[in-house]
Amino acid sequence: MRLPSVGRPRIDLYDLFNLDENSEGLVTDDPDKQWRVDNARHLTGLRLEFRPYTRWSESWDHDHCAACWTKFAEFEGADIQREGYATCDDCPKGACYEWVCSVCFNDLKDEMK
Ligand SMILES: [Zn+2]
Repeated sequence: MRLPSVGRPRIDLYDLFNLDENSEGLVTDDPDKQWRVDNARHLTGLRLEFRPYTRWSESWDHDHCAACWTKFAEFEGADIQREGYATCDDCPKGACYEWVCSVCFNDLKDEMK
């Protein structure tokens, strides 16, 4: 039996989806990064320093990642970050005022330069 020699090539949608998932790194407009970049846009260009979390004010007992909103605190707990990347003296609001967790820092550092 001969295959037809004319006709449009068949496009397999599942193959296309697999291709997309495996091409991570080539995609520039990653929606999972984009919302965090948007949240932390005000930190673009600021210097961040990795350090153990310390409270900025006596009246705050925790803080949040500027990008993904994960929690920072000085005490142990489920889903609590105890160290991360803090703003330095060049932040208008001051050193250690804003925090970014290490996951976001690694994911977003190229976008946030
Ligand atoms: Zn984060």
